[in-house]
Amino acid sequence: MTDLDGFTLRAEYLAPPMRGVAFRVNAGERFQIIDVKGQQVGDLVAFNASDPEEYFSPSHTVTQNWRVALRVGDVLASNRRNNMMRIVADTVGYHDLIVPCCDPEAYLKRYGLKDHRSCKANMQEALAAIQIDWPVRGENAWNIFMKNEIQPDGKMVYLEPTHGPGSSITLDALMDMVIALSACPQDQTPTNGWNCTEMLVKVWKPG
Ligand SMILES: [Zn+2]
Repeated sequence: MTDLDGFTLRAEYLAPPMRGVAFRVNAGERFQIIDVKGQQVGDLVAFNASDPEEYFSPSHTVTQNWRVALRVGDVLASNRRNNMMRIVADTVGYHDLIVPCCDPEAYLKRYGLKDHRSCKANMQEALAAIQIDWPVRGENAWNIFMKNEIQPDGKMVYLEPTHGPGSSITLDALMDMVIALSACPQDQTPTNGWNCTEMLVKVWKPG
């Protein structure tokens, strides 16, 4: 028995290194986000496919599970407190729900870098490529495989990820969604192990 028994592969999508990809997933489908090379973070935003005013919300997700560190069985919730996804398998076990995704302002203000690629722009570009102009809000990103540590005094530290090639998280879609995923282009911190690589998505349909 695997988590994919009873499912058939419907589609694959690739977010190339430092780029994004957007795709649709239907309720009842199961999808995997795969870190092909390892130590890579993927930033994700999700919308109700029929209403862009309903979207994945990290803060609502915390209260839906009463956890800031999500585990298998936990749900990803919307700003209307509806469950959008459920984690069914996870070979990594650490993800960030606290910080916004990287954006052009972060690279300019922290590192003086103009025109650096960012998860926010990657996800907006990826949505545009499937003819969707819904706004990406960085504070509504889920930072998959991002290794942050909250220390006893409340300080948060970005750590170098330790997960290897082929690491994955598998989710059940609980509503029809439009999702954007960015292979994070952060190369100024240990966030992506100092080497930005691609992320692969596999969508599985029942049957
Ligand atoms: Zn990023």
